[in-house]
Amino acid sequence: MLPAPPRPPLAVDLDVDVAVIGGGLAGLTTAREVARRGWSVALLEAGRLAGSASGRNTGFVLPGFAADAEKVVTRVGFEHAKDLWALSQAGLDYVRDTIAAEGADGIDPEAGWLYVSKVDDGDALFRSIGLLGDLGCEVEGWPTERVRAFLRSERYFGAIHFLRALTIHPLNYALKLAAAAERDGARIFEATPALSIDPSGVRKRIVTPAARVRAGHVVLAGNVELQGLLPRVAATLVPITTYVIVTAPIDRERLTAAVGYRGAVSDTDLADNHYRIVGGDRLMWSGRATVWPRNPRRYRVALAGDIAKTYPQLGRVAVDYAWNGTLGNTVHRMPQIGELGPGVWLASGFGGHGLDTTAMAGNIVARAIVEGDETWRKFTPFELVWAGGVFGRTAAQLRVWIKRLTDAAAERRAKAREAARRSRPEPQTQTSDAAANAAASESIVPSDARGDEAEHAAQRRQDSEPADQDSHQCAGD
Ligand SMILES: Cc1cc2nc3c(=O)[nH]c(=O)nc-3n(C[C@H](O)[C@H](O)[C@H](O)COP(=O)(O)OP(=O)(O)OC[C@H]3O[C@@H](n4cnc5c(N)ncnc54)[C@H](O)[C@@H]3O)c2cc1C
Repeated sequence: MLPAPPRPPLAVDLDVDVAVIGGGLAGLTTAREVARRGWSVALLEAGRLAGSASGRNTGFVLPGFAADAEKVVTRVGFEHAKDLWALSQAGLDYVRDTIAAEGADGIDPEAGWLYVSKVDDGDALFRSIGLLGDLGCEVEGWPTERVRAFLRSERYFGAIHFLRALTIHPLNYALKLAAAAERDGARIFEATPALSIDPSGVRKRIVTPAARVRAGHVVLAGNVELQGLLPRVAATLVPITTYVIVTAPIDRERLTAAVGYRGAVSDTDLADNHYRIVGGDRLMWSGRATVWPRNPRRYRVALAGDIAKTYPQLGRVAVDYAWNGTLGNTVHRMPQIGELGPGVWLASGFGGHGLDTTAMAGNIVARAIVEGDETWRKFTPFELVWAGGVFGRTAAQLRVWIKRLTDAAAERRAKAREAARRSRPEPQTQTSDAAANAAASESIVPSDARGDEAEHAAQRRQDSEPADQDSHQCAGD
């Protein structure tokens, strides 16, 4: 963590154009963008800035949303979905540009995200790549051989490579964003919970422990912790707690021989497993999901077990750090962005896909307030839906468990199919090079690109090197 002296709590009454409640990435981006446009803004944070999900996440800045692309297209139509994806990409670009302007020290951005499949269903991956490409994402399909050249795990098959994604140190990014917002004139108060809010009237009134704020607009960016202030709004989110470990240093050669990809890796669309190398010689690894927070120490062994299962060649790895964090999932898995009533704005519900979408939401809400921009209306199809209270949470937990079981069964079947393929004798007529080319072309490569990929695979075998990350074969091409 970069040095960040605590901001003092609010001690005197304030009158501002905009009050932002919540000092996570959604609140900080909104405050900065309002201040940049010359309006007065005060941000109230109950604890420390980015002390919740925004500072505890694994730092994958990805395009898109927590919701499945196909479901969004079904719900709002292709053109509308394409606009939404362009907005999410603008959020990602905002993070990248902010880092470029504020300095990358402490944030350590790395390019790329590999979304890896643990089953041999190349058709499904190929369909996803096609849709994502159509929505404007820069993605490419990696066949099994290429994935395993970078990630030396027998668990993995094909993958989608997101070229414009990046990874960051999210807490340090948030702290730099806060400093930038203050430079632009935003006033930030820590240890200042908003205790109550009176949203009626032209000037909204917010009560904090020691002082009051009056503001023309209020932005609610408190995520799941809004519960105390606005229980009915908070009840539209299912809180999901996930767990992260960072290993002790691992011998660099051994680590990079196993994990040869420097960006982010996810091998599921659920909590298990998302990981990347941090500090050059440690693995940051996250997984598991519970709807009631549990002690992260309980998950050290389970997550270290996931590492051992994926990369047995690393041997036993020690765990130096473990923590948890809670994200807010909406029922439709899309963020809640918009005006709840005159001058009362919501920027919430970013789920596990909050780094591009908080940046996107902060910009959209600031533009709406200051310039009357109506982009936020693109999100009106995703209205506030009650998340089901205790029943909703229980159902969510059951869904997580069932999905883990069905994923594990699908993985076992895929491994069995692969073992059966391997045990089949090679046809006599095929030269070993042709057989290798066939293996390289399996799975997710469109038929017209297969020849190229096979050539690359043959070339890589000659060079005995993993393929260069930039080498072509973009499904979007
Ligand atoms: C373990 C983990 C890993 C994740 N990994 C990723 C990832 O790799 N990529 C990705 O895109 N997303 C990821 N996410 C999701 C992402 O972190 C969140 O979606 C995002 O940070 C949400 O930001 P936010 O500003 O809405 O909420 P938060 O960061 O939760 O901030 C809300 C803030 O509001 C404050 N607050 C609440 N009520 C009040 C009040 N009444 N008065 C004053 N302050 C109040 C809280 O104290 C809190 O600081 C992950 C989440 C977790 C938990």
